[in-house]
Amino acid sequence: MNKNTENQFDAIIVGAGVVGCSIARELSRFKVRIAVLEKESDVGWGSSCRNSGVIHAGFNNQPGTLMAKYCEEGNQLFHSIAQELDVLFKKTGKLVVAKNNSEIAGLKKLKKQGERNGVKNLDIIDEQEIRKLEPNVRGVAALLSPETAITSPYLYTIALAENALKNGVHFYLNTEVENIEKKSSGEFVLKTQNKQFITDYLINSTGVYCDKIARMAGIDRYRIYPCRGEYYVLDKNASSLMNHLIYPVPHIEEGGLGIHLTPTVDGNVLIGPSNEYIDTNKRNNYAVTMEVLSKLCKEAQKFLPAISPKYFIRNYAGIRSKQTPPSQGGYRDYVIEESEEVPNMINLIGIESPGLTAAYPIAKEVVAMIDKKEKLSTNPDFNPYRKGILRFEEQDEETKRKLVEQDPDYGEVICRCEQVTKREILQAIDNPLGARSLISIKYRSRAMMGRCQGGYCQTRIMELLKEKYNYKWDDFLLRGSESYMLTGNRSNGEPAL
Ligand SMILES: Cc1cc2nc3c(=O)[nH]c(=O)nc-3n(C[C@H](O)[C@H](O)[C@H](O)COP(=O)(O)OP(=O)(O)OC[C@H]3O[C@@H](n4cnc5c(N)ncnc54)[C@H](O)[C@@H]3O)c2cc1C
Repeated sequence: MNKNTENQFDAIIVGAGVVGCSIARELSRFKVRIAVLEKESDVGWGSSCRNSGVIHAGFNNQPGTLMAKYCEEGNQLFHSIAQELDVLFKKTGKLVVAKNNSEIAGLKKLKKQGERNGVKNLDIIDEQEIRKLEPNVRGVAALLSPETAITSPYLYTIALAENALKNGVHFYLNTEVENIEKKSSGEFVLKTQNKQFITDYLINSTGVYCDKIARMAGIDRYRIYPCRGEYYVLDKNASSLMNHLIYPVPHIEEGGLGIHLTPTVDGNVLIGPSNEYIDTNKRNNYAVTMEVLSKLCKEAQKFLPAISPKYFIRNYAGIRSKQTPPSQGGYRDYVIEESEEVPNMINLIGIESPGLTAAYPIAKEVVAMIDKKEKLSTNPDFNPYRKGILRFEEQDEETKRKLVEQDPDYGEVICRCEQVTKREILQAIDNPLGARSLISIKYRSRAMMGRCQGGYCQTRIMELLKEKYNYKWDDFLLRGSESYMLTGNRSNGEPAL
């Protein structure tokens, strides 16, 4: 593999979600010229930033499926990858709670299924033990899964991408693949609005759009049915209400794990997700609806009566890429295959939950498929380590004092809710991928994620962007192209800050 002209690659990955970025990082262990093409202005803006952030243990999936295999492997692998990439990871453990005696059989079934999948340390506990672990939670019995963990799904995706970039992968953001042609030489020609790319291997890792990309290459047998899940985000002061992830007994035919309560690594709590199929032609319909949100609140209160709207600070939605139509529901196993009719194209189809957990084992499988054909040479310069932005707020007093002494920008708090300093925000602005929408800065620094949701710090962050990059009024974008932050124009042409 030895492509070296500017737009020619050995392998192109379409889609920079957690799966695409894992493949990019894993493939960069070898001497391969790799590009990742992403239609959004940053990595991880599909399902990969719109989920529960749970590193599942692997007891929810049918034994013998790829979902079960990669989930369990991903759970066991996660700790070392998180360390290499400097990503937060907490093994909080999970309780699947039976609300009444009739649900206890469901717990036993899950335990048995988990054990068949290789999940360790599963236990069924009674009402008293629930009370000891979770004094605010109501239930008659629960499955305790100590292996279940949480991470930051967007920081994990960013970390994978930054490490891949450091190891030589080329990232093209704002680059939507619009057409695919397979030449008689076997190469693929990918057309985007501004540029054409040529590659030997094409990896379709486009989440909810995977069937569309496959169709562009002439494969018409995959179908994706988008299914939306809505969430509430609770303020950090709700985190004292629970210690574990709290889940209901799942009803598999619903195609989700039920509305659950999940602590986040940053100290918030999530309630959700709901489960509704949406129009296949509107796969980016991330709407949150009052009807669903009030249902989320009621469902959460069944386990944790102390939940109340006073904790709610934000909401969001994610879209599952389901292979099962609404009439069927449930789950269909992942498809990860090189299609016979289009050699050298690897399609990843239906990577729904537990896709965040399973992403790395999936990446290893894809790389093994290419290695088997090409006998790849190892990249001797591969560096598995990446350092994230140091969180000033999480340091002890002595370290904080030293940091401020060395760099006064640590002494200026810009986001008061999350206590994010000017130095951290400048580092987030200067990120290696060059993603500078406000949401990119938010995900990297946590600024604008607190109780006031940027009411205080957003304009200050915009001032930093203006100072550093001499931004004009229409350069300020919330979430990529055309999501302008400012409208109108002062007579002197300056932004209306
Ligand atoms: C509500 C919900 C909750 C979930 N909770 C969990 C959980 O707790 N734990 C867990 O393990 N999993 C969870 N999942 C599953 C997990 O989020 C997904 O499996 C995973 O994020 C899929 O990653 P991906 O990279 O395949 O897709 P995505 O993250 O969607 O990435 C696909 C990328 O392709 C890009 N793209 C699409 N078309 C094109 C094009 N034409 N050109 C260029 N780029 C393109 C998109 O912009 C996107 O960035 C959840 C999912 C949902 C929806």
